[in-house]
Amino acid sequence: MQGRLDKKVTDILDQAYAGRSLEKKDCSHLLSFDEWSPEAYATRSAAATIVRGRNDDSAIILGQIGLEMFPCPGNCGFCAFGKDHAVMPKSRITDEEFAAKLTDFCRDDDLYGLYLMCMHEYDLDFFLDKARLAKKMIAGSTRLLANVGDTEKEAFAAMKEAGITGAYHVSRLREGKATALNPKARVKTMENALDAGLQIFSCLEPVGPEHTVEEIVENMFVGIDLGCTQHAVMRRVPVPGTPLARCGQISNLRLGQMVAAVALATFSRPNMTYMGVHEPTEIGYVSGANVVTAETGVNPRDHMAETSANRGLDMDICRRMLLDCGFRHIRRGNEEKIPLDLDYVNGLNRNGGGLAHDN
Ligand code: SF4
Repeated sequence: MQGRLDKKVTDILDQAYAGRSLEKKDCSHLLSFDEWSPEAYATRSAAATIVRGRNDDSAIILGQIGLEMFPCPGNCGFCAFGKDHAVMPKSRITDEEFAAKLTDFCRDDDLYGLYLMCMHEYDLDFFLDKARLAKKMIAGSTRLLANVGDTEKEAFAAMKEAGITGAYHVSRLREGKATALNPKARVKTMENALDAGLQIFSCLEPVGPEHTVEEIVENMFVGIDLGCTQHAVMRRVPVPGTPLARCGQISNLRLGQMVAAVALATFSRPNMTYMGVHEPTEIGYVSGANVVTAETGVNPRDHMAETSANRGLDMDICRRMLLDCGFRHIRRGNEEKIPLDLDYVNGLNRNGGGLAHDN
């Protein structure tokens, strides 16, 4: 009868409300419905209710600084830096540029974590140098995170020593076919990070219209099965000039449905508190996501060398987006809650203190 939800969807969502994490077969069923169906709206609503109830309606802001760019041997068919199609000039951030970006991100001590991003191949000493500089400059609670290529345990241990606490790493959809990388090496890197004592932040990415529900569900469980601390979903952006741009893009409504499925598969696990959506979209934040990412420097989803002038969001836009989506708190890196209201977004009651020279 029109207006009635599919019975199996109702049962799955009832189990999620009761605190049971969804299994692969549950996620496959939820994602078999169109993104505009009543079942999809019910799924997004359940995920948002459960996630917000778990952490007192809090969200976090993550930042990312792209440290360098050169044509990358990963050669991912969706990435602006892939060696066969990259058009941007080579670049490497200077200490002065890095310090200025850190200041913008961290001055109000409301950035939960900051990714330092390199290409698939990278100079570990250069990376560690930037991590140590950031550690010295940040007096507040912001956590330092790595977003680098495949890496051995020893290198992750050196990062930990320099102040890094977690690493973003994924085995992507069609890794090895849409990319020149080895899916087993990608998973091994995630294991190496865990073995070195780092948290792993995972993501179902980059989703395009050609991916089947089965591929999507298998991919989302790579990070879940390894015990990721944060999860996320990223839709593929059709970056001009990249080979996969011709395959098009899923809607933000479908992206939100996937965010909801991942959230429902993870949020009764004890180590999961935050769920990301890339790129940030209001639909994601009413579907279970509670992480917004500000970006500066180079960005794989952008053909512009300085993404903050194009696709990347800045801190002010991130704060405002979270307020508009009804979150009531921003969490610092030490989990302290900052009340989120219009005055805070307008800069009236921020305390500063996020940088060493503020003290
Ligand atoms: S996504 Fe990463 S590994 Fe792939 S081409 Fe871009 S920078 Fe290289």
